[in-house]
Amino acid sequence: MKTAKEIRREFIDFFEGKEHEFVASSPIVPRDDETLLFANAGMNQFKDIFVGLAPAQYPRVANSQKCLRVSGKHNDLEEVGKDTYHHTFFEMLGNWSFDDYFKAEAIEWAWELLTGAWGIDPDRLWATVFAGDDADGLPKDQEAADLWPQVTPLPAERVLACGKKDNFWEMGETGPCGPCSELHIDLGADRCDMKHVPDHECRVNAGCARYIELWNLVFIQFNRQPDGVLVPLPAKYVDTGAGLERIVAVLQNKESNYDTDLFMPIIDATGELTGHKYTSQLGNKTDNAFRVIADHIRALVFSITDGATPSNEGRGYVIRRILRRASRFGRELGMHEPFLYKLVPVVVDCLGEAFGEIRERADYVSTVIESEEASFGRTLDRGIEIFNTAAKQAQKSKDKVIGGEDAFQLYDTYGFPLDLTELMAQERGLKVDTTRFTELMEEQRQRARAASAKDSLSIMDKVSGQVLPETEDLGKYRADQCDAVVVGLIDADGFRSEGRIEAGAEVGIVLDKTCFYAEAGGQIGDCGLILTDTTEFLVENTTKIANCIVHQGKLSNGGFDVGAAVRAVVSKDRNATKKNHTATHLLQWALQKVLGDSVVQQGSFVGPDYLRFDFTYHKAPVVEQLKEVEILVKEKIAADLPVSWTVMPIEEAQTLGAMALFGEKYGDEVRVVAVGAEDTDHINEAFSREFCGGTHVDRLGSIGGFKIIKEESISAGVRRITALTGSGLAEYLEKARDIVDELSAMLKAPSESLVERVGRLIEDNKKLSKELKAAARKSGSDAMAEARKLLEECEKVSETSIITHRLSTASVEQAREAVDMLKKKAKSAAVVFGFDDNGKATLLAGVTDDLIKKGLKAGDIVKEIAPIVDGGGGGRPQMAQAGGKNPAKIGDALARAAELIREKLAV
Ligand code: ATP
Ligand code: MG
Repeated sequence: MKTAKEIRREFIDFFEGKEHEFVASSPIVPRDDETLLFANAGMNQFKDIFVGLAPAQYPRVANSQKCLRVSGKHNDLEEVGKDTYHHTFFEMLGNWSFDDYFKAEAIEWAWELLTGAWGIDPDRLWATVFAGDDADGLPKDQEAADLWPQVTPLPAERVLACGKKDNFWEMGETGPCGPCSELHIDLGADRCDMKHVPDHECRVNAGCARYIELWNLVFIQFNRQPDGVLVPLPAKYVDTGAGLERIVAVLQNKESNYDTDLFMPIIDATGELTGHKYTSQLGNKTDNAFRVIADHIRALVFSITDGATPSNEGRGYVIRRILRRASRFGRELGMHEPFLYKLVPVVVDCLGEAFGEIRERADYVSTVIESEEASFGRTLDRGIEIFNTAAKQAQKSKDKVIGGEDAFQLYDTYGFPLDLTELMAQERGLKVDTTRFTELMEEQRQRARAASAKDSLSIMDKVSGQVLPETEDLGKYRADQCDAVVVGLIDADGFRSEGRIEAGAEVGIVLDKTCFYAEAGGQIGDCGLILTDTTEFLVENTTKIANCIVHQGKLSNGGFDVGAAVRAVVSKDRNATKKNHTATHLLQWALQKVLGDSVVQQGSFVGPDYLRFDFTYHKAPVVEQLKEVEILVKEKIAADLPVSWTVMPIEEAQTLGAMALFGEKYGDEVRVVAVGAEDTDHINEAFSREFCGGTHVDRLGSIGGFKIIKEESISAGVRRITALTGSGLAEYLEKARDIVDELSAMLKAPSESLVERVGRLIEDNKKLSKELKAAARKSGSDAMAEARKLLEECEKVSETSIITHRLSTASVEQAREAVDMLKKKAKSAAVVFGFDDNGKATLLAGVTDDLIKKGLKAGDIVKEIAPIVDGGGGGRPQMAQAGGKNPAKIGDALARAAELIREKLAV
């Protein structure tokens, strides 16, 4: 039996034999495509080539792409576990032609590989072609329909024409697309899973599992614009995709992808961990849990390796949902403690050879998964209880719907993603009120909405599908001024190579050459000015699309035409940015020295004001470690070592051990920044060598200082350091100094003794509050004792005790407590206290319920006597209080109270 590894190899070998170049998979987390959360097809990394934004490096390419279909246009999450052939993560084998061969070769070769080298019975294969679509104004793909029987032995009656849904491939709402031709396999009548459906007829694309799609041959000919219109592309492309897992199942003669060597080791390991047995049955709850877990752990390992981390938004939330789903399925197998992370090494064993990155990052991935499992685990069991209660209620109701409030509570308090709640509901034949849930979510979002809503129409969208000129990149980022010619502008209508830029316009300007640095590698794009003889264009950001550098900004007055000669001047901020960028390299080097090799860069931000560096580390570094890092960096700055950069072949850079950003795809030539080396000849002397295209200082001394101002955790296993250099640091220190001076003035102490003084103040404060508490306790018990004595000595009218008394010391709380105590002890009592509360008269009355019935109310008493002390007040019949300005009259007030009480009781 062929292994999956051999099958993957054979695919690549076959196409290499037809002059295809092997290209590695792009990261599953697309680096610079915000329109796509995860790679969902092999073509993602070639998107720029299809729309003409970048040239093709090779006319023919083959690869195995890591794909994740859990969001957006392609989402197979719901299918996972329920069928045998849809996964979240899977490998897509593909061959490409970039304006080289077209439909005939693509069809012929797919057939040749399937039925030749792989020996699949030709009688089991079917093909489909695009039937055309009126709405899009597209005719049937007759060319492909004719080709099948011409270039393969497949008879015309096994070539079916199908609609847009199946045979027009689109990556997303916009972007390259085109008609496709698919190869399906007939797995035999007993594989039909729709026998229970009346009038079901097994057919290709009829939704039953007898026929499954193996390979899709896409003929990319159009670009779908944001307005929905299809624009023909300047050239024609072939983009094919075959699911490795499905091919392996067929070639290994298995009924399910899960029975192949791509999944069985994971399933076996899950069996060992849980003590349950996998029986490979569809529709079986335990087996389903096995399948979901095996699928999800693969997805997690690959996506976390490539830089996604569980969080509450965007990509991170998708990962969190997958992880929590897997964790919940673990409960079905009796797992209440974190266990998914133990499967990471098994996934690495299965796929680490084809994808070395998962092996390299295995420890990190385990840490992230374990800590996320642990944190969800803490609320999961309680959440399941809440769900069960809600489900029981829904069971009884007539529409069998779990309320949006319950789903929201599960989401908000117990971390249950909506799809998890829906899945659990579905298992019991229930639905979830998602409309109400969405409303509640929206309300919460509105409350939390940050002001940072970004312009939704990015420069990238505006020029989608257009071919942009290449900009000459000047001076290796040393120059900060240059002369250039305006060759085009970008506005809401896209790129134009002629036109005029008028005052007030917010546009992107393209020059023939520039010294501006375009945003990349964490460093922000340059700001500055583009000057003509009469006017200045303020550049607010610089970005790069393929090889075209765009200066975004606005013109305040005047105007100039495309074709004008200009002078481009980079803002002085660039100097501050340079310092921060070189300091970021120093920081990475120092962190690795102090914390070890598990420090891997996750991301960075380099601007003029500060720098931020995100890296993997399993716990919070202690203060001493951060100090040490600071010292190491400062030592290098003080030594004023040189910084140089060189462009070299990537292999050479790798041999030098230059650090690359994990998961990033680099070209054949890379720029290496060497800190500590005078020039290329001395690159071996450098202590830090990084792949980097950013701007840097010439000598470390000019960085002028370094300070870490914040260290925090940004997600499981990822830390973030914020630091300052140069003028940013000077400003920070100045502000700090102002605070010290102010404190110094307040405490009337020199700054050197501030720490000691504040320390003493804190100590004193502690002592005082202790004393205060003790005093309060004592006076409280004094008041109680005084009150108790009163009860013994007081006046009685039949069973009722009448107490009117001036307390010597008391607070309102203490007096209240005393009144309560007396009411309880005496059973029947009327109590009135008066006392001097810091120069204010306070009166407090309380009566027991039996007296209220007789018409004696505390509120009435207080109302009557308060004026005597120049005050007012009232309250409930049981207890009332008043304050007054004249404490000298407290005695009179009390005497009047006693009279009142006697009068009432005598009646
Ligand atoms: P299906 O109709 O079976 O969902 P599809 O039309 O969505 O497939 P394509 O987008 O054409 O598939 O992807 C190309 C190939 O990738 C398919 O022919 C199939 O072999 C494989 N594939 C697609 N989706 C999955 C998945 N969720 N899991 C495993 N393999 C898949
Ligand atoms: Mg699909």
